[in-house]
Amino acid sequence: MVESIQAIRGMNDVLPEDSALWRYLENKLRQTLHGFGYDEIRTPILEKTELFKRNIGEVTDIVEKEMYVFNDRNGDSLALRPEGTASAVRLGLEHGLLGQGVQKWWYLGPMYRHERPQKGRYRQFYQLGVEAFGVSSVDIDLEMILLSKMIWDSLGLLKMPQLQINTLGTSAERAEHKTALIEYLTQYQAELDEDSQRRLQTNPLRILDSKVESTQRLIANAPKLSDYLQADSKAHFSQVCGGLEALGITYTVNTSLVRGLDYYTHTVFEWVSDQLGAQGTVCAGGRYDALVEQMGGAAVPAIGFALGLERLLLLLEQQGMKIEAKTDLYLVSSEGLPRLKALQLAQSLRLQFKALRISVHCGEAGFKNQFKKADKSGAKLALILGEEECANKTITLKYLRDANKSQEVLSWSELQAFLTKLYENKEMLSGILS
Ligand code: ATP
Ligand code: MG
Repeated sequence: MVESIQAIRGMNDVLPEDSALWRYLENKLRQTLHGFGYDEIRTPILEKTELFKRNIGEVTDIVEKEMYVFNDRNGDSLALRPEGTASAVRLGLEHGLLGQGVQKWWYLGPMYRHERPQKGRYRQFYQLGVEAFGVSSVDIDLEMILLSKMIWDSLGLLKMPQLQINTLGTSAERAEHKTALIEYLTQYQAELDEDSQRRLQTNPLRILDSKVESTQRLIANAPKLSDYLQADSKAHFSQVCGGLEALGITYTVNTSLVRGLDYYTHTVFEWVSDQLGAQGTVCAGGRYDALVEQMGGAAVPAIGFALGLERLLLLLEQQGMKIEAKTDLYLVSSEGLPRLKALQLAQSLRLQFKALRISVHCGEAGFKNQFKKADKSGAKLALILGEEECANKTITLKYLRDANKSQEVLSWSELQAFLTKLYENKEMLSGILS
């Protein structure tokens, strides 16, 4: 026997029974983004490895441990994209868009990170990314947060994620703080956990994010970034806080929120759910005012966020949301001429009633079997075409959910008017409602 090949660990299939919920989520996201005046961009899944190495930061977890990198047949080093911001900036620079005033973009697609697979953490996962370029004032920080909140509202989430915000200041302020931090932590080097020791010289800010208790105790007295922030940075952050209050958005300031990528400046934020265990962050983002220049463009301020679709789906599933794609009409027919007529009839109905989902039974099966399939499809109505109907140019209508309603026979010419009435009343046709 041939051994069948399985999917790669941490990379998931979406099964027919689950795809309707994915579509629901994706459609809601698209509607919200469209409604905020953001335009979609699409970038390749493969990019030059250099793009991520240089711009996410050499010593970040993503670049050090998680990226899928390989040489293609020409020997070029390529990477499966681990996130979308670097690609969005590359696109903007390559097509000269970042010099043309404010740009507001979104993208949705798979990202790849070689992490330990667990609930809410996969090696291929889907992100919605949102980026805005060319605005340095806090209005855009507020719009980004409003936009993410609108997403929770539009989905009907029963248990809202909580907003946490922080400021990382400018890169100059961070550099000063970093020097002080290294000096402080070096005194306790031997007491730090292994990961933190490694990060001490490379990325000490991430030590502040450590989950190790002994390290956390040391961090409590470490120099704080807030003591190194200048007036401008402080003013920006307090305007963000004031704006959120004015907009009625509840938040907490979490000074240990640092984010795992190097390019962030000023405002950073996360939406965290208490329903997902350790993988509670459903959405994360912030400003990255220095990245465009660092990537070879002009000094264009920018801000963005990314949201993990699988974690959002887990939230929706946990609150019992289930969406089934229901069929409206199921055509049951005998093989041969009646089946051909069924295909033809279904075709003309699809042209006339564009929103309907119409299934024609294909393959050998007796009527009894076909009715079982019709029932399973969710349809309330079956259209039957046997030899007799075909000869008389009629169709038999069978109500699948209502035992009190008896079958009706209609001529082909009456069928359209009959369905138009049902269509207008939205009764019997469940598919167009879902
Ligand atoms: P985490 O701290 O959970 O590893 P992160 O800081 O690496 O997240 P970002 O790079 O900011 O995450 O990505 C934004 C969002 O994408 C996360 O908040 C999460 O919802 C989702 N995400 C990130 N990594 C994964 C993954 N491996 N599997 C599923 N979703 C993910
Ligand atoms: Mg991560």
